[in-house]
Amino acid sequence: MALAGLGSYSTHQLGPALRQTSHCRLTGVITGDRAKGKKWATDYGFPEKNIFSYDTMAQLAGNPDIDVVYVVTPNGLHAEHTIAAAKSGKHVICEKPMANTVAECDAMIGACKAAGVRLMIGYRLHYEPNTVELKRLARDKDFGAFMRLDGANGFRMRSPKSAGNWRADKKLAGGGPLMDMGVYVVQAMCMAKVEAAPATITARFGPITRPEIFSEIEESVAWEAEFPDGAKATGLATYAENVSRFRVESENGWAQLGPPAFYYDTPVLTTSRGSVKYPRVHQQAAQLDGMALELLTGQPSRASGEMGRRDLAIIEAVYSAAKNGQRTPVNAG
Ligand code: NDP
Repeated sequence: MALAGLGSYSTHQLGPALRQTSHCRLTGVITGDRAKGKKWATDYGFPEKNIFSYDTMAQLAGNPDIDVVYVVTPNGLHAEHTIAAAKSGKHVICEKPMANTVAECDAMIGACKAAGVRLMIGYRLHYEPNTVELKRLARDKDFGAFMRLDGANGFRMRSPKSAGNWRADKKLAGGGPLMDMGVYVVQAMCMAKVEAAPATITARFGPITRPEIFSEIEESVAWEAEFPDGAKATGLATYAENVSRFRVESENGWAQLGPPAFYYDTPVLTTSRGSVKYPRVHQQAAQLDGMALELLTGQPSRASGEMGRRDLAIIEAVYSAAKNGQRTPVNAG
């Protein structure tokens, strides 16, 4: 596997995870900084011929050491890098959010189909045991269908775009905390509804309290979603405060992840029947091994490109509902 983009998430999470995995390992990198690539080659023990730049990704085609490219660049570059990897004949894991727009998602899915490669999204929680159990509770209806859902995710962002923070740059980030943190809430809501998308959304942006950071993106956004079966959900994505919670209720009980629900710590699952201790896993190692096994055995992906596209369709509906103040249909089909 090759990591594309050797920033914070690759350095502190995915690289170390790839030292623990049983079914995949790091055999190359794609980076704009060759010196950094050489250091990774030494640290992880792969040959320097397996260091590529974004401009030389076509040469991945002739490289038998690399089966999968994991795109870990800023959101606005996911489409370009995913399509380049697919064209070189490699399977792709693309970080969340899948892209800036549904149109980009369509282009990525099309490129992977045309190349006959798989596209997966770096949704680590699909491989985390507590979250997997919440999915099972929803699917098997242990408490009946979950009809009231609430989730929030965010952190207090401190640096502006001028300090090199691409998350505050609309072009590279696609939007604000909804893209970065809210996508986890969108994901969890769909998990709790057995992967159904909401039918309609209403939303509103929160106040901009620090205009020096939030000149291009929202500081926070809150939304209400209604699902086809009448279930109602409230969501919040924010760069104003540290928050990470998720709770669902039905006629016969409730379930809650965390807090924190979406961070790297194990999101402990508590239900109206009590709390169950699932083994603590290294989330990224579990995800990488899970995805590698799906590829090796031909099982469907738990976190597919189509799922990533659905989430972008929901996100686009939240943004348009917040802008137009109307109840907005979600076109996730
Ligand atoms: P960083 O800014 O730390 O790293 C991004 C890397 O992308 C850079 O170091 C650089 O690597 C490369 N890059 C290529 N072009 C650009 C550009 N124009 N501007 C900035 N960087 C560029 O970001 P993160 O690692 O935090 O995030 C990367 C992706 O991972 C995002 O999509 C984010 O949403 C996702 N992520 C997912 C998490 C999860 O839990 N699933 C957690 C954190 C992030 P190089 O120098 O090697 O070219």
